[in-house]
Amino acid sequence: MIITKQKDLKEVLKYLAGENSIFLIGCGECSTTCRTGGEEEVKKVKEALEKEGKVVTGYSIPEAPCIAAKLKMELARNRKTIESSDAVLVLACGLGIQSVKENLRSTPPSVPPGAGSRPRISKGGNKPVHVGCDTLFMGTIDSKGLFHERCSACGDCVLELTGLICPITRCPKSLLNGPCGGQDKGKCEVDKDRDCAWILIYNELKEKNKLDLLRRIKPPKDHSRSTKPRQRSV
Ligand code: SF4
Ligand code: SF4
Repeated sequence: MIITKQKDLKEVLKYLAGENSIFLIGCGECSTTCRTGGEEEVKKVKEALEKEGKVVTGYSIPEAPCIAAKLKMELARNRKTIESSDAVLVLACGLGIQSVKENLRSTPPSVPPGAGSRPRISKGGNKPVHVGCDTLFMGTIDSKGLFHERCSACGDCVLELTGLICPITRCPKSLLNGPCGGQDKGKCEVDKDRDCAWILIYNELKEKNKLDLLRRIKPPKDHSRSTKPRQRSV
């Protein structure tokens, strides 16, 4: 899941300066779970913007705005309202925000009857799209509702060798072959409140009777696998 937090309203209002009518787009997946872009949050942002004198023309909460097919359907359903708005504000992660921008450009425009040939780019395509959330990390959620960063998308997963505990993400130094020596009573020298990832890995492998995996020296990370921007087909 992509973890987000809403931007401060004051900051968002600066983005929206000079734009009066705003269409809101949330996210029915991760941002709903994070309570940053679900229906409840979108309605709260709507109210807050209206208190500041803005007109919220409508809102949409695509199931997953980062998935082009789902987003396109929502944009097509709301295209007239979007076209008549000054701007779009997206309460979703950076993927969703960029996807809205890219898909708005390719959403077929609404054309009044008898208006002749269609322009190639929808009026919505040139609409300013604004950022309503900060994207923090990829994480899991525990039973207390706390989000934990668990994967850094390194492109070369070592979990099989580390008891399914990610040293890239959970060790601040991203060490691949055991602890740095600074751990103290199982706590990390960088942050004493956190468990040392490598002690967790050791304990996990010990419990599973797989300590021999620690003898496998992992080569330096192949950073060519995470050269950005990455691309892959389905
Ligand atoms: S090793 Fe860690 S960062 Fe890399 S893919 Fe696996 S879980 Fe993600
Ligand atoms: S103490 Fe453990 S988690 Fe902290 S930096 Fe060293 S190896 Fe990594």
